[in-house]
Amino acid sequence: MPVVHTKRRRTRFGSPLSWLSQISLPILTIVLLLAFPHVSIQASTLGERSLEELSVQAVESLVSLRDSVKNIDPTDPSSHLSRILIPRPADSDNNTLVRNYIVSTLKALNWEVEEDIFTDDTPYGTKRFTNVIATKDPSASRRVILSAHFDSKYFSSFPQNQFVGATDSAFPCALMLDLAETLDPLLNARKERLEQGLEEDDEVADTTLQLVFFDGEEAFREWTATDSVYGARHLAEKWATTFIAPHTKRHLPTPSASEISTIEHLILLDLLGAPNPFIRSAFLDTAWLFDGLVAAERRLASSGAFAEDGIPNPDIRSFFIPRRAGEGNMNYVEDDHIPFLKRGVSILHVIATPFPRVWHTLSDDASALDLPTMRRWNLIFRVFFAEYLGLRPEVRSSREDRNTHSSRSHEELVRRFIDRRPNTGLTPRLTCVRRLGYG
Ligand SMILES: [Zn+2]
Repeated sequence: MPVVHTKRRRTRFGSPLSWLSQISLPILTIVLLLAFPHVSIQASTLGERSLEELSVQAVESLVSLRDSVKNIDPTDPSSHLSRILIPRPADSDNNTLVRNYIVSTLKALNWEVEEDIFTDDTPYGTKRFTNVIATKDPSASRRVILSAHFDSKYFSSFPQNQFVGATDSAFPCALMLDLAETLDPLLNARKERLEQGLEEDDEVADTTLQLVFFDGEEAFREWTATDSVYGARHLAEKWATTFIAPHTKRHLPTPSASEISTIEHLILLDLLGAPNPFIRSAFLDTAWLFDGLVAAERRLASSGAFAEDGIPNPDIRSFFIPRRAGEGNMNYVEDDHIPFLKRGVSILHVIATPFPRVWHTLSDDASALDLPTMRRWNLIFRVFFAEYLGLRPEVRSSREDRNTHSSRSHEELVRRFIDRRPNTGLTPRLTCVRRLGYG
């Protein structure tokens, strides 16, 4: 029997969901499909379409557009990743610090940033949560969402309360900030083309990029329907019951569209950044988007972007498990997408299964992350979103413009990573011990 991965069942304490591991895959699949019938009620989605493949030169330009390592380098204290990589459970001072960092980074880009504040009951009493929603162009009629949770799991006592959740999900959040900064000028250029009537596909050009940083994904105690995904449950409910005011969007899909109906797809990242991930396609209706990620990875590999010692390696093992003919929905992992899935939103869930071996342990710190892997994720999403959103990366004529990262070898990345680690003696692991800042 294939291993069935349900995110919260990998606990040593015998989760109430452990019965799931005893039943067969087909039965489980049926149970999950009945629980979450994935009927699309999207009026606004552009649906499956062919993504316009970037040229080799455009891919190279995207690779070198911004340093693909700087923002995700855990040994650089000023990187986005380092600023997020502290214990940050919901309703803590550190959580506010990280949230403020995310907000200020995106406001500096002039994105519209909303802080969605609410309270909810938890096993530890009423807690305050804040989702962060950043939108490049609020007047666009539709958006594609890239999301991850920015809270880290709460532990009540030392040393577990030093948990920083590097893969869960500090790195995905850092990737999102890097992506926003990288694509921002390309999105501006696309808007100019749209306004000047130069955009060939104004349907695609009227889809904007929205980033959602969910708070309160983690259970305070055991994962249950009411002790988990606090932020996602709140936001899905809010958007399903909020109707868009006329004249705030260029073209409303229907006169009484709800906020949730203008989501084309919600792409959720979780448990990424460790080496050798295995990513599966969970939903049939977004299999074409999964294929888009696979294609972006393949083209980057053959362009030499992941080159070791400057030699392109098109045979590099893919992060993605090939889809099989006749494969159905395989939604095994409960996560922030569930409240949206239940409301008919189309979901692409990018999560490593099996989970990183450090999952929910103190070892999910900087030492669990692999810089070449993280850089590869950065580049895959740059290409994927450029193709999804119809962006035109500037093709530069001078190779001198480019930074050196496009041809940086694997060994060099690893060496750089190791050289810049704090001197912690012989241990190969980074220590990342920062005190919780409860007030
Ligand atoms: Zn977690």
